[in-house]
Amino acid sequence: MEPDRPRVIDVAPDPSPPERRQWWALVFSAAATLLFLGVGAAVVSSAVAYRFAGGPPIERSLVVALLLNMALILFGWFRHRALSEEVRLRAAAEERAQLLAARDPLTGFLNRRSLGESGAALLSFAARRKMAVALLIVDLDHFKTVNDMHGHVAGDAVLRSVAIGIAAAMPPAALTARFGGDEFACAFVFDARHPETVDAIARRLVESLAQPVEADGLRCHITASIGIARSDSDGATIDALMRSADIAMYGAKKGGRNRYAWFDRAMERALNDRNDVESGLRIAIPAGQVTPCFEAQVDLASGRLSGFEVLARWTHPTHGEITPDRFIPVAEETGLIGDLSLSIMRQAFAAARDWDPGLSLSINISPVQLRDAWLAQKIIKATIEAGFAPNRLEVEITESALFDNLALAQSIIGSLKNQGVRVALDDFGTGYSSLAHLRALPFDRIKIDKSFVLSLLDSADSAAIVKAIIGLGDSLNLPVTAEGIESAAIAERLAALGCVKGQGWAYGRPTSIADTRRMLGARGLLRGGSDPDVPTITSRRLVG
Ligand code: C2E
Ligand code: MG
Ligand code: MG
Repeated sequence: MEPDRPRVIDVAPDPSPPERRQWWALVFSAAATLLFLGVGAAVVSSAVAYRFAGGPPIERSLVVALLLNMALILFGWFRHRALSEEVRLRAAAEERAQLLAARDPLTGFLNRRSLGESGAALLSFAARRKMAVALLIVDLDHFKTVNDMHGHVAGDAVLRSVAIGIAAAMPPAALTARFGGDEFACAFVFDARHPETVDAIARRLVESLAQPVEADGLRCHITASIGIARSDSDGATIDALMRSADIAMYGAKKGGRNRYAWFDRAMERALNDRNDVESGLRIAIPAGQVTPCFEAQVDLASGRLSGFEVLARWTHPTHGEITPDRFIPVAEETGLIGDLSLSIMRQAFAAARDWDPGLSLSINISPVQLRDAWLAQKIIKATIEAGFAPNRLEVEITESALFDNLALAQSIIGSLKNQGVRVALDDFGTGYSSLAHLRALPFDRIKIDKSFVLSLLDSADSAAIVKAIIGLGDSLNLPVTAEGIESAAIAERLAALGCVKGQGWAYGRPTSIADTRRMLGARGLLRGGSDPDVPTITSRRLVG
């Protein structure tokens, strides 16, 4: 049997559009009228001859022809009227279609394509008058939460209200556009010698958009980040200006949102760098260029090595070693972090297979990964595949990570703990709402952020914070690890304050798999080989 073919609906072009048919109806009526005049004249002259000159009576066929003619004229006229109406309706529909194609239906603003067309005209107008065009990209901050929490109807109402705010803040004759979602653009002409006029407009816009929005019975607080590009330096076409303004808008977001930023070339370089990191990472992760290194964690009282924190390192074939501050944020933004993290875990578990079973591994989990409902299963699967006991594993989660979706974080942490994995709250004291998190989630450990530890001996504030965190851990029955111990003096002070574990350069920099293995071998901490003379490492010995 012949397989089903997709059915093609043949849309044949209209063989005679109404304009042409209207024209033919007119020609038809004109011809009928001419015929009517001819037949009418014959009827009249034969009637006159019959009445006054005794001529023959009017021929019946002439009268019938005359009547037929009149019917034809009437038919032609009605047809012409009907076709005129059709032409009018069609013109109105075309005009509406054009409007819809050029406008955003929700706000009535231009869309991306029509901004391109109208923007090109604005650019040439500005060039003729020796002026410049400012193009602003306006992106709402955290708009997704409005949609998620209140639904799309409320989201649409907020967008309409934002559009009204934007239109009100713009100078007359400005172009306003919405690109879909929560991204808007505006363009207007300004005197290139006075960019402060653009500053004033942008400032006013940021302030007005930060006002609470009453929409669909809701009161929402929403802010916007704005990027600005100018035609005399940042791009000669609307497309180029949009790209520059977009880069500037990301700069405003990075700068803390609810603000505006002008485009500058450094932003473009940073973006190119970021894109290089992203494309590099896509190759590096599967190629095994991102590897774990191990930072020793020690029991502060005894100096005994208790395990390692696993830290990712990227050895680039040409750029050399790249630190996680550069690639982890990019991996998080691009969704590569899941693969990266699993790859690091698998390598670390495989490396630790023949290490002393008393040594634990702490792995870092990104905020983004806590949105993955399967995270706990993936981690456990990786331990099983590598034959690494889950009770030797600790995951470190930063505070900010827990804000996003507390319920999901609770369920992930619960699943991990059920399998014997311990969970530490990393970088404690740097985020916010720390105490709320400590209550909401069943942590096994708190890690004091290195910023407080590094300055423990020089800053009374840091000392007070460290003391308070250790006291908090004590009263909640949570052991505390301090990171960033760079000297024996800091280690001693921490031990005196009651801090249980520590890590930092005083105990050694993070080392590769091979170097860590060599060090463990020398200390007899590899299964199958032991050296009882080197059971511990102490900060004093390593520093000294
Ligand atoms: P973190 O988890 O707080 O890791 C501790 C950081 O402090 C590490 O930096 C470590 O090298 C550094 N550090 C440790 N001791 C000292 C010290 O005594 N002095 C100083 N100045 N620094 C010290 P690193 O390796 O650059 O990692 C930075 C951050 O990158 C980590 O902070 C962690 O948040 C993230 N990270 C690293 N590896 C991974 C990973 O595999 N996955 C995820 N999601 N994040 C990772
Ligand atoms: Mg950590
Ligand atoms: Mg940390």
